[in-house]
Parts: sequence; C-alpha cells; structure tokens
Amino acid sequence: MINTGETILNEDGVLSSCTKRQGICGYACCKFSVGNWIMLLPGEYEVAVQKNLKRDHLHFESNQHAICSTPCQTGDLKPIDCSWYPLFPANQNATQFLVADHRKCPIPNHELIDKMLAIHISALAWEQQHPGSLEQMLTLSRDFVGYMPFPYKIFNGQAIKMTTEEMQCIALTNNLPVDYICKDWTVTLSGYSASQTPDDEK
Ligand code: SF4
Ligand code: SF4
Repeated sequence: MINTGETILNEDGVLSSCTKRQGICGYACCKFSVGNWIMLLPGEYEVAVQKNLKRDHLHFESNQHAICSTPCQTGDLKPIDCSWYPLFPANQNATQFLVADHRKCPIPNHELIDKMLAIHISALAWEQQHPGSLEQMLTLSRDFVGYMPFPYKIFNGQAIKMTTEEMQCIALTNNLPVDYICKDWTVTLSGYSASQTPDDEK
C-alpha cells in the first residue's frame, strides 16, 4: 500500500488510516516472506503493458500472480490488488470481502468500511469491462495467504455486520500460524489478533 506506483485506474487507494499506521507495520503488505502474493485482475497485466507502466519490481508467476521485490515508484505498475489492500472481494457481487490478518495490517475493521464501499464499485466496474473476472478472482483468491473474513458486508447499499455463518462461508484455509508475529513491524504491540485490532468493537 505504498503510495508511489500507479494503478492502471489512476486510483492509488491510499487512505489516512493506512498512512498514520505505516510507522507500526513497516509496510508489511509490501513484503512477501509468508507465501503471500499479489493478484493482477483478469486483463490488468495487458493494460499495464499498453500503458507502458514499468514492471521490473514485480516477479510474475503468471499474468495474474506476482510478488514484489522493491518499492514501486512513479511510473511503476501498482497492481489494483495493492490499492485495494487490505481488502479483497469475496463473493460474486463484491458485497462480501476478505481482510488481511491484522497481525500484518493494523488498520481496524471499522476504518475500512468506506474503502469496502469504494472497492465494491470498482470491482463491479471491472466485471462490466471484463465479464467473468469476479468469478476468476474468487477462484484464484482461495490461494491467498493470511486473509480473514471481513466482518462487514454491503446490503442495500449500506454496511452491516456479517453473520458468523456468512463469515465461515468465505473463510480461506491458508492462515498465518497461531503464534505469528510479523517481523516487519517496527514495534511490539499487544491486542492484535488475526481478525481484530485493539480498536475494533469486541
Ligand atoms: S500493512 Fe496496512 S497499514 Fe501498513 S502500509 Fe500496508 S495497508 Fe497500510
Ligand atoms: S507494487 Fe510492491 S511496493 Fe507497490 S504497493 Fe504493491 S507490493 Fe507495495
């Protein structure tokens, strides 16, 4: 979520909740030591090539699967997944979401609600331009590492709480270890679990 590269949509996705916590996390979202990876949306790589965005900082396993080795800079491709981080759509209508493990990303869930609403619009627009891409994104994201069900969803245009059953339905299997401590964090803070920060409602 570093604010230097450029997405093909010219939306960097940076939010103040992220900026003010970057001194804690050490940009953990831009490090790839736990098997995590970046998904390029269907068609995104091809548009990045057309727009001549540099991709040397990324290592691609395929046009949709990459990791990053150095911070992106002006003129570099910043994948849309990076701009959506720590959220990612988790259902066909982009009304349910995954959220990164809060032992990596310290942003409280409730501070991500506006971002969820924005990603909903962005994901549906992408689906309209690239039919079938949401289904493909859902399938590929089952292999994401270190994401939890986001406890809010969109219903009738509003953010409401997910039920326990709904959250179980979108849960992934590649979780970080129970005793995981992010080595990128610059400070040791208590109260952060996979699914919550100390600032979230209990
Ligand atoms: S880990 Fe979270 S808080 Fe830190 S830079 Fe990434 S998105 Fe921002
Ligand atoms: S491209 Fe790399 S440095 Fe830029 S936001 Fe994504 S992971 Fe971070």
